[in-house]
This record gives sequence, C-alpha cells and structure tokens, in this order.
Amino acid sequence: MHSQLAVLGGGPGGYAAAFIAADAGIDVTIVESDPRLGGTCLLRGCIPSKALLHVARVISEVEELKHDWGVAYCAPRIDIEKVRERKDQVIKRMSTGLKQLAKKRNVTVVNAHGKLLNSTTLVLAGDHSSIPDGNQITFDQLIVATGSTPAIPGSLAIDSDRVMDSTGALELVDVPERLLVIGGSYIGLEMGTVYAQLGSQVSVVELTDNLLPGADPDLVKPLHRRLAKMMELMLGTKVGSLGDRGDQVEVTFEGPGKIGIEHYDRVLVSVGRRPSSRGIGLENTQVQVDQSGFVVCDAQQRTTDSHIFAVGDVAGEPMLAHKASHEAKVAVETLLGKKVAFKPAAIPAVVFTDPEIAWAGLTEADAKRDGVGHEIAIYPWAASGRAQTLGRGEGLTKWLVDPNTNRVLGCGMVGPGAGELIAESVLAIEMGCEVRDITESIHPHPTLSETLKNAGEVYYGSAVEIYKPKRR
Ligand code: FAD
Repeated sequence: MHSQLAVLGGGPGGYAAAFIAADAGIDVTIVESDPRLGGTCLLRGCIPSKALLHVARVISEVEELKHDWGVAYCAPRIDIEKVRERKDQVIKRMSTGLKQLAKKRNVTVVNAHGKLLNSTTLVLAGDHSSIPDGNQITFDQLIVATGSTPAIPGSLAIDSDRVMDSTGALELVDVPERLLVIGGSYIGLEMGTVYAQLGSQVSVVELTDNLLPGADPDLVKPLHRRLAKMMELMLGTKVGSLGDRGDQVEVTFEGPGKIGIEHYDRVLVSVGRRPSSRGIGLENTQVQVDQSGFVVCDAQQRTTDSHIFAVGDVAGEPMLAHKASHEAKVAVETLLGKKVAFKPAAIPAVVFTDPEIAWAGLTEADAKRDGVGHEIAIYPWAASGRAQTLGRGEGLTKWLVDPNTNRVLGCGMVGPGAGELIAESVLAIEMGCEVRDITESIHPHPTLSETLKNAGEVYYGSAVEIYKPKRR
C-alpha cells in the first residue's frame, strides 16, 4: 500500500492535517491505533473533561442560587452511571462524525500501531481488517502526530487500580469519598473540581508554592480563594511515597502543607505529560528528538528528515489541541508549496476551572524575564455590572501593553467565561491592535466582554466605572 501522505496519529493534529490535505487533493492515509478518531483531546482529554465540568458547574450554580439568592432545590441525586453514559455519548457522537468526515474526504483510515522502518515506510501492527496485506505502508511524506501520554514518575507508579492518571479519572468509575490529586496543574484542578462537585472530599498536593505553576499569580489568586473553599490545597508539599493498602492508598507527605501519612480512596496523578516519540521507530530515520522527547521541527513543522513533518504535542509545548491543529495546517500548506510559518503572537491557554483562567500573548513574567518594556492595565470585575448580576465580582481582566506603541502584547483574564472571552484578545494581539482599537470598538452592555474595553480605558486613565487618574 502506498500513500502520497501518511499521518501517524488521529488526534486533533493528525486528523486536521489529513482532512486539510485531502481537501487539497492529496491521497492520504491515517494510521491510528485506537479504533476511533479524535486522539487524546476527544477520547480522554478536552472533551470528556469539559462535559464533566459542565455538570460540576451546574451543581455549583444551584448552590450559589441557594446561598446568594435564596432559591433552594433539594440536594442533587447523582446517577453516576448516567453521567458517565452522557459523557461517553458526547465522545461517540464526535468520533463517529470524524469517521464520516474521513470517509467523505476519501481519507483511508488504518487502525494499527505504526512504527517507522525507515524514512518512507511504516510497519503496521494489529489485527484490524483495515490493515493492508504485507502489514506495511509506504509514503512520499509522513506527518507524525502521535501526541503525548500521562507521565507518572517511578516513585508514584504503584500497581493499584486506585491510583489513576487523567484517563482513569475521566472514566468516572465511582465517586470516591476521599480523593487526592497529585499536581496542581490545569488537568489536576479541572478533575479535582469535577470530583469535588460530585461529592468527593478532594485534596490537592502541589510541589511548588503556587497552583498552576507558570500562570500569572494575579489570575491564580481568585481561583485559589474559591478552590480553597471546595478542596484542601497543600502547596510546597511533596508526596514521598504511595502504598497499596487494599481498599485505600497510603500516602506519605513531606511538608510544609502536610507532614506524615494519610489514606485516600483514590489518587489521581497529574504531574505532566510526555511526548509520544518513543517506540515509533524515529531512530530508523533522520528525525532528531530533543532531551525532553519532543521532535525537533522548524517553523514549517519540517523535521530533520526531508520526508517527515511533526505536529501537535509530540512537536513541542504548549501541549494544546488548538496549537496541534494550527501546526497541522502549516505543515500541509508547506507540503502544498505555500510560504507559511508557525509563528503565532498569541496561543491562548484556558483553565476550565470555576472561575476560568485564560491568557494569550506575552505574560507579565515573560515580559520581565525578557526585559520587554510593558505597562499593565487591570480592570477588576467588581466594577462590572454583568459580573455583579452573576455574583462573580472576583474576576479581573488584564492587558499588557507596549507603552511606546500602545500596542497590546498580552492579555489575562480570570472569571466565569474567561475561556470564551480571551478570543477577542487573540485577534487583537495577532492584528497588532493598539489599545485604542479596543476602547473605540463598542462592546455590548451588560457583558463580561466589556471588561476588555474597560481594561483598555484603565490604560488611558479614562475608565468610567472605576477611578484611576488620567495617564495619557
Ligand atoms: P493526541 O490527541 O494525543 O493524538 C495522538 C494520537 O496518536 C492518539 O490517538 C494515539 O492513539 C495515536 N498514536 C500514538 N502513537 C501511535 C502509533 N505508533 N500508531 C498509531 N497511532 C498512534 N487541550 C486543549 O487545548 N484544551 C483543553 O481543554 C484540554 N484539556 C485536556 C484535558 C485532559 C484531561 C488532557 C489529558 C489533555 C487536555 N488537552 C487540552 C490537551 C490535548 O488533549 C492535546 O494537546 C491534544 O490532544 C494534542 O493533539 P495531538 O493530535 O498532538 O495528539
């Protein structure tokens, strides 16, 4: 079997690349070991986690109604099987849709584990009927889109089904009475929120002194305050060891957040992800892999082997689905001879907790580290009529501005819906907008989107609902 283009991996990087290439008339084959298309994002990442976070959000809104507005419902009766079924239905609907889209585009999908024999041949392992005779496929070009898998350090890797990674946590086998989440990253906090709202007593342990290490502390503070009411947060604390004690997991903590031994019904280890670059035969090609296991690529997503491109999680940070699909577009357009490059001014990042945190472009820490001249303008949501109607005045919107040109360099937001709202800032940063472009654009009232305009007015010292002396 020969294909002009083979794509190894059918996640958001792989299927985007395959579909764009097929639309341009290229003959494409996707090799995917899972019987379904969609990859981590659809099958065990973005989509199932957001489906469960939707449930968590509705539960917490009902609680807010009771406490803030005096409207009370009975305590929720949670049918965990139905929740699981519904989440699985969402996945099934979307992955079936992808299968149909592949068929309509004449993209061949081979369900097999692919391993490179050399720079133009994949050896296929598995027993699916889609595997061609000879168990091989040759190609002119390959796009490696094998993604990433959860990383579990040796000290935390014990043989117990009570110790889960994010995939296990999303399976929602039960709602444990006590759940320990190891790692205060976005995946740990999102899953911790889900389980806490479903009724678990959740504890989060994080090695560094902050939740969401690397995120802007101004944005993390309001989230920290709210999460602390929902779960135990142990910062600057190391987990020494895990031990299987039958129906519980024994955990030793090495302070200062906690010292000693505790027992939990389940433990979620979410301490990072590892690019899937091992075991796929890259050593049989000219492809180089860096020390962290990422495939080395140029701005056109070309690897150091002239037949092979790489996109998505396997091709570097940030490991996000929208970065994967954008890289896929660049790789295919390069193949088609277009002059393109992956050089975004802003890749948005969203933490879908409650409140949500979102940022795009340059962060304050980046600017300080790289000595980039900048000014900060912050609009507190306490002054936003819309935020007050929602009872969510704890949010904020923050612009990072180049004071010489008044151009927006970065944006950060915390508050409900921040993940949707950040898109406006991505467009503004990519287009090189000046703050005035945002303040002169009429935003609908009363909405949280106004806070982007209002933060711009803070920059000029002309915000109406808060008083800040005029600066320029
Ligand atoms: P993947 O989606 O990992 O797809 C790789 C595919 O390659 C897999 O299907 C795998 O089976 C296949 N494969 C690997 N090796 C082989 C082989 N040798 N042969 C055949 N097939 C192979 N990102 C966001 O942007 N927003 C979010 O809200 C978000 N939430 C997340 C929540 C969780 C719990 C997790 C775990 C991740 C989340 N992510 C989120 C990250 C997102 O899922 C990834 O960035 C994205 O899936 C990367 O896409 P990809 O195509 O590079 O790889």
